[in-house]
Amino acid sequence: HRAEAARRAHEPAVTRDGTTVLVGVNVGAPADAVAGADLAGLVRTEFGFLDRREAPSVDEQEAAYRAIAEAMGGRRITLRTLDVGGDKPLDYLPMAAEANPFLGVRGIRLALARPVLLADQLRAIVRVAHDHPVDVMFPMVAALDELVAARRALDDAVAAVGRGRPDGLRVGIMVEVPAAALKAAAFAPLVDFFSIGTNDLTQYALAAERGNDQLAGLADALDPGVLALIAATVEGAGDDVLVAVCGEVAGDEQAVALLVGLGVRELSVAPAAVGVVKQAVRDVDRARARDLAAAARRCPDAAAVRELLRAGGRS
Ligand code: PEP
Ligand code: MG
Repeated sequence: HRAEAARRAHEPAVTRDGTTVLVGVNVGAPADAVAGADLAGLVRTEFGFLDRREAPSVDEQEAAYRAIAEAMGGRRITLRTLDVGGDKPLDYLPMAAEANPFLGVRGIRLALARPVLLADQLRAIVRVAHDHPVDVMFPMVAALDELVAARRALDDAVAAVGRGRPDGLRVGIMVEVPAAALKAAAFAPLVDFFSIGTNDLTQYALAAERGNDQLAGLADALDPGVLALIAATVEGAGDDVLVAVCGEVAGDEQAVALLVGLGVRELSVAPAAVGVVKQAVRDVDRARARDLAAAARRCPDAAAVRELLRAGGRS
């Protein structure tokens, strides 16, 4: 299986019944732009902001994003705007202390509270988008107002760069807040895609802090409650908005059929997982995957879902 996956890593991932599922790579630095990935489905731009005394300039950001676009050699890159907050503090962004940083001013909330920071980043992104296929993606969106404001900031950046709207520039949001999943139909007219961040979506759905070892069993992205939120996102997205998953679960080959069965059409995964996830897609039959998803949603907990997947969908 592994050898086959490696041999076919450059081929598209098509299910048995002929549906293409895009398999992207999650990128922190150009070295992550592995061969074989169909796109970079999540570029975590915050790495360029950490361990510094001041925010990177527009030129520095442009160079960093251009390097990733060039490493991807014409494949689409999805640049997520700065996703930091009280849980990942920055020296040059002093913030009020928060009792619950994961429920505080993070992601798009922080970006909208620091409009110059966001404006600079969007200008860098727009410059690169004139030369490469680029998506811009806003993290931690909970309210439609936030998306409207972020889109307005993007329009302002397009105007500031002064070369018109880049042709291929697409806009999406991360679905990481349960309410956003449930309101997907309201967001859909304003986006080209949704990318479900199951790492955060799971912690918020189960009220179980990510990274807390004592809660690792509970904070499992295969919990049927999380699966219901993924299904709600797909339903709200309709036919015109692509739904991706870029959280860690996308790289779990056992979970691929289930995610495809829920209606997910793009998976963005760690560099090492691209080949095996593509190969797992090739084994999927969509009618069976839909039945598997329905059975998983009837399970009481993630352990039962994992048992179902191990049994090959026979409950
Ligand atoms: C997520 O929350 O699933 C995600 C992909 O974003 P991050 O892990 O960077 O918070
Ligand atoms: Mg996240």
